Amino acid sequence: MEQADSQYAQAQLAQLKTDYQVEAVADWEEDGGEWKPGTWAKAELEKLHNAIALMAGLMGGNEKFVHHIGGVTVRKADIGSHGGEALAHRVSLSTKGTFSSWTVVHEFAHAWDANHGWKLSRQLEKYTGGFTNPFLSLMKRMARLSDSGFLNPEQKPGRYGRRPGCNRAGYFYGDRPSGSNWSFNRLEDFAESIAMYSGWGRNNDLSEWAEARIKRYLLENMASDKNFGVDNWTDYARYFYPDGGDYTKTKRWQFVDDLVCGRLQVS
Ligand SMILES: [Zn+2]
Repeated sequence: MEQADSQYAQAQLAQLKTDYQVEAVADWEEDGGEWKPGTWAKAELEKLHNAIALMAGLMGGNEKFVHHIGGVTVRKADIGSHGGEALAHRVSLSTKGTFSSWTVVHEFAHAWDANHGWKLSRQLEKYTGGFTNPFLSLMKRMARLSDSGFLNPEQKPGRYGRRPGCNRAGYFYGDRPSGSNWSFNRLEDFAESIAMYSGWGRNNDLSEWAEARIKRYLLENMASDKNFGVDNWTDYARYFYPDGGDYTKTKRWQFVDDLVCGRLQVS
């Protein structure tokens, strides 16, 4: 990394810290006068910064962002196959390939939820009319009402476990999320709802993906989507496609809007 780049990176890091209480762990070091590149590329720092600024803007400013999330350390780490991980005050982004803006917002949403003792996702679950019941989920699978195998999803269209309650957690989502899979639960629902809200109809880094997540349900069964592969899209539309294709008509969009505009009592 050239001197100019390291200066640029340091300025970016300092600004993240001052404006958002976000500490991106710097892992480059000076080596005999030469700057050794770390795992953060310049483009990645920019992407991180933009995604955080986007969230802060939706929340109503930097102070609100700091108040909601309460300070975070971000690091890049080898965390296996998924793009990110988050706990209160800690976000990890994968070193395998690069991360997307969507992942940044998704992981910061988890950190936000965690900073409130995971109560935000409970509020979302309640607001959207969902519930978590592993026993009922088991019954549903025993009665063969599930779109999955008995203990696992099957790796074929229409059998990935997307229907309400047909997932590991026994999460019966209410209203219409933008998608579901075997790993779906109220925490993932909250993080995805924040990302959908951040992108939907706004013309930013997340907007194309947000739109693609909804548009896939207009496809025929067994059609192949370039991002999401083959599935029984038409059959799933009743669970995921919003009224008139307008995501702002969903309870999730309304919940996040109420949350960021301060209309919800947050415990
Ligand atoms: Zn997640």
